[in-house]
Amino acid sequence: MQMAYSLNSEAVAKATHEWLAKRGVKREDMAELVFFLQKDYYPDLKMEECLASVDKVLEKREVHNAVLTGIQLDLLAEEGKLLPPLQEMVYNDEGLYGIDEVMALSIVNVYGSIGFTNYGYIDKLKPGILKKLNDKHDGEIHTFLDDIVGAIAASAASRIAHRKQAKAEEQQKV
Ligand code: MG
Repeated sequence: MQMAYSLNSEAVAKATHEWLAKRGVKREDMAELVFFLQKDYYPDLKMEECLASVDKVLEKREVHNAVLTGIQLDLLAEEGKLLPPLQEMVYNDEGLYGIDEVMALSIVNVYGSIGFTNYGYIDKLKPGILKKLNDKHDGEIHTFLDDIVGAIAASAASRIAHRKQAKAEEQQKV
């Protein structure tokens, strides 16, 4: 017989927000990345729109799952508790490892191909909080989290692009 099992979605969302904060990532940091990605396309873009879009992306269960899994692996690597050779690969953010990027794509996927483009772009330039997360000299390991944060920002940026496009088409009809 299968046991009835239900996970409290609110508890998952709450844990996601708490762990992001504990690992030094604020919604404002992610909104800044969104602004960075979209400012050239929408000169009248407001920071509040970026914040609101980040909040919307942060409501998604796929995002909660990726954040909690990624941070857990980063923490275990920080404490030296992963099995070798995975420990060395995650600890050193080994270039050929790549599973951190694949996990981040599970977030970007939700928002279509423009999300991929934004993610690739921000991953290459590493502005703002991404530069901080990538700093290898502070003893903190963010091998997974940097990609996840980039993916959240890329998704929030894509969300804005899709919504602005829909709005423009709506106005053309009138
Ligand atoms: Mg990484």
